[in-house]
Amino acid sequence: MATISIETTDRTDVLDVTEEVTRALPDDAEGIATVFVRHTTAGVTVNEAESRLLGDLADALEGLVPDAGWAHDEIDDNADGHVRAALIGPSTSVPVSDGRPALGTWQSILLVECDGPRTRTLQVEVAGT
Ligand code: ZN
Repeated sequence: MATISIETTDRTDVLDVTEEVTRALPDDAEGIATVFVRHTTAGVTVNEAESRLLGDLADALEGLVPDAGWAHDEIDDNADGHVRAALIGPSTSVPVSDGRPALGTWQSILLVECDGPRTRTLQVEVAGT
């Protein structure tokens, strides 16, 4: 199991972490890699890392979930970030072959920041042969 630290730069931010995840994999890794974010206001998914689409994804999350009016805001004013992160989910699993994620041509592993900027920790663990 490896951990990766990622610096995010915006309140809502979608970053391509495929290269960081690939570096964290053993050279001979084969099987399934789980990429898990150890936070409650960030998520992980797989999609296309085209720069305008990354902005569209952030805009869509902000549009789907209003900023204010949540009960949890009485605690630390970031309920919108929790709800947005819950829509994405905290992890994804990708097949791994010869130490690399076996992704489709247009697929990348994306970290979705929902209460940044912060330093986020990703855990990468391979199960398999
Ligand atoms: Zn909170």
